[in-house]
Amino acid sequence: MSPPLVIPFFIPHQGCPHLCVFCNQRLIARQTSKTQTINSEADRLSDVIHTYLKFKKNRNQVELAFFGGNFLGLETSRLLALLKAVQPWIRQGQIHSIRCSTRPDTVTPRILDLARPFGLETVELGVQSMDDRVLTLAERGHTREDTRKALARLKNNGLKTGVQVMVGMPGDDDLGAVHTAETLAALKPDLARIYPLLVLEGARLAHWYRSGRYVPLSLEQAVDQTKKMVTIFKGAGVSVARIGLQATEMMDDADRMIAGPWHPAFGHLVLSALMFDRACKQIDSVLTGPADRKAIEPSDEKRRVVLQVHPRSLSRLQGNRKTNLDRLAQTYPGVSFIIERVETLDTDQVHAHILE
Ligand code: SF4
Repeated sequence: MSPPLVIPFFIPHQGCPHLCVFCNQRLIARQTSKTQTINSEADRLSDVIHTYLKFKKNRNQVELAFFGGNFLGLETSRLLALLKAVQPWIRQGQIHSIRCSTRPDTVTPRILDLARPFGLETVELGVQSMDDRVLTLAERGHTREDTRKALARLKNNGLKTGVQVMVGMPGDDDLGAVHTAETLAALKPDLARIYPLLVLEGARLAHWYRSGRYVPLSLEQAVDQTKKMVTIFKGAGVSVARIGLQATEMMDDADRMIAGPWHPAFGHLVLSALMFDRACKQIDSVLTGPADRKAIEPSDEKRRVVLQVHPRSLSRLQGNRKTNLDRLAQTYPGVSFIIERVETLDTDQVHAHILE
């Protein structure tokens, strides 16, 4: 079955009484809210829906996603206006469900009773970390316990759940990222999204960065931490719906995106790094005989190893700009690799055998 068409509708910072150190949404919201009334927002929503429905093609399911900001924390009148504006499409069968992102501390029984009858099916929580010390440093204004309670409450109400986490939070590190992923994976959300923290103009983190109080992760560190989180989530059966931020104009604007591990294909880098690890494991498992030991040394008579992957995973095996192939050649200088595409393999799999 084809994946659903997701219609994203962004509500920057609205509904959020906080100001996390890394957030510049208030600046964006101030610029948009000057001209925006509840009616014009509902009109904007209608325009967005109309535009996206043109691209529905043969997809059976359509989902409206309220992202950015703190949807369930919106003023009740505004929340209801947006949910009501979607109802005509739901009644006509053109939109089938609603998802939103929100802070863990806004998930109250009252708000769920209010929103669920309008077709709300999935709630993604802006968790960022499951370490209270890290949450306090970032001035998130909620605790890990809020996240735990919110996930339990959403599940008890029959809603699907998502968690959004960040690598590179102030005061966080490798172990912290692993701890966050393990703690969340044990709570069994349906999906996870992982983002690297970037330093944006207008956020307080920009001052911290300029004064040396905050040092962003390098791209390599961010990829490595994210890779560990992906492994933990997937190992626990949590689907990883997104890795890295979507490319926007802001990311290419050095005046607005000041620092941090930004890469337009961040997700690809992470998935390629995972594929490299799997390939090495497979290669090591077949290079077991005495003659194979030479494979880790430069040799004129190279061992030939076939690596098989699903056609869709070929670029991951090769890595960004073929870096994985270069690394494999460096790691196994006595091996020459032959790559084969095999439709029957899973897209996460890589299989190795020696060509005698
Ligand atoms: S909770 Fe979200 S919208 Fe609110 S300040 Fe933090 S990052 Fe910004």
